[in-house]
Amino acid sequence: MISKLFPIFNQKKSSDKFHEECGIFGIYSPQKVDTFSLIQFGLFALQHRGQEACGFSVLRDGFILSHKSEGLVLDSFRKISNSEYFHGNAAIGHTRYSTEGGQSKKNIQPFFGEDSYGKSTISIVHNGNLINAQKIRKDLESKGVTFISEYSDSEVILRLIQKYLSEYDNNLEIAIQKTTIDIQGAYSVIVLMDNKIAAFRDPNGIRPLCYGMLNEKTYIFSSETCGIDSVGGYYIRDLFPGEMAIVDKKSIRFSLLKKEKYTKRRICSFEYIYFSRPDSLIENINVYEIREKSGEKLYEQHPVEADVVIGVPDSGVPASIGYSKASGIPFKPILVKNKYIGRSFIIPKQEMREKMVNLKLNSILNEIRGKRIVIIDDSIVRGTTSRRLVYILRKAGAKEIHFRSASPPIIAPCYLGVDTPSRKDLISYNIDKEKIAKILNVDSLEFLSMRNLIDILGGKNYCFGCFTGNYPIHIKKNDCIL
Ligand code: AMP
Repeated sequence: MISKLFPIFNQKKSSDKFHEECGIFGIYSPQKVDTFSLIQFGLFALQHRGQEACGFSVLRDGFILSHKSEGLVLDSFRKISNSEYFHGNAAIGHTRYSTEGGQSKKNIQPFFGEDSYGKSTISIVHNGNLINAQKIRKDLESKGVTFISEYSDSEVILRLIQKYLSEYDNNLEIAIQKTTIDIQGAYSVIVLMDNKIAAFRDPNGIRPLCYGMLNEKTYIFSSETCGIDSVGGYYIRDLFPGEMAIVDKKSIRFSLLKKEKYTKRRICSFEYIYFSRPDSLIENINVYEIREKSGEKLYEQHPVEADVVIGVPDSGVPASIGYSKASGIPFKPILVKNKYIGRSFIIPKQEMREKMVNLKLNSILNEIRGKRIVIIDDSIVRGTTSRRLVYILRKAGAKEIHFRSASPPIIAPCYLGVDTPSRKDLISYNIDKEKIAKILNVDSLEFLSMRNLIDILGGKNYCFGCFTGNYPIHIKKNDCIL
């Protein structure tokens, strides 16, 4: 019924195959440790960044041993009977989130390269999205390089590093430097090779990557600080945009990838709004605080009289607490989320996605009847979640519904690693706020203003591409499709 009324929501995503969001984790210790458990804990903490598949590589006695499978981290690790086989002195891992078209098992990370005897010599994990991967892949293929994956831009990074390793005497530092001159886009990468780990971030630092320590000799790299916390480590700092760190038995060394003038901090603002865990620090900024402040600002922007504020779990809750603080309207956790369900976007078909929202969220009816409700979500993308929620609240007898989005309208797709649909599927693309309010069937609708978002984040040095259509990297028409 809804799809008939709103055909815009029925569009199939056309460019899904190059969308990827992921979590990456790595650990290096000079001695053999229980890398099986450490990588398991780290990836489990990063599960929210990808639920479709996961994998890891361990360095044991000079050998790189890998395991990858579809599904959640704990399910995947449970399948491994001989955990001691994966005890080593270094490990890297990946949680994968992909959408329609990109779900082949061949795309599960890590990707590894082998020598002529079939022994793994190098393994990499990548979070982000390259915009020129297709061109590089074609070029490498024309020179005889074989690819295993169907679409993966991460494999392009691996094959380039391998190419430069062979040209530069197996020098990993030079190979990475050369690779990053060729690739364009968003990349946070961890490489395991030669009894060392290298980690690097693109010159805009679009996707996060931080490092910390477990003890004075054991280094940890993680997409978010919650990964470091999960193994009992302590956070040191984020890698700078365009920075590379290499850890081996002796030390950790840092260097800049390209000339300094190319680096310009532009971390994805959506990491703070939706993607990262609220208990993480991203570039030393507390994600929870940003979300709570966005709620305060939403109230300041457009005060409304209401009886109760509710948040859409999980990422809309801190904003609704902020809204409640600023307005004095009580916050009540009366939307109940089924904890055992994945995020609704993992379902590629719109029809099923609509049903998922019902399964995922339900409300406590008695608290809603006859009430004026402010409901806050972190974002409105297609409008699927918001329409369903309004339907649920109306059915439960809400008197008024004031919908608030703790981020500005999403008007453009992301080419740099967040799974947003193409323009035509975005409810805010080409439709103004008043019309959207009608479509959603709400009494009022407000989005956090760009100005307030910039104010909360403390500056403009972020990627706001999904809100503005301007990206830190120039994206040409034929880019992006692999
Ligand atoms: P929609 O239902 O299409 O309007 O999407 C908005 C809902 O999806 C909100 O509840 C967000 O928390 C969530 N969301 C926003 N961006 C993403 C994303 N990239 N992946 C998965 N869920 C998302």
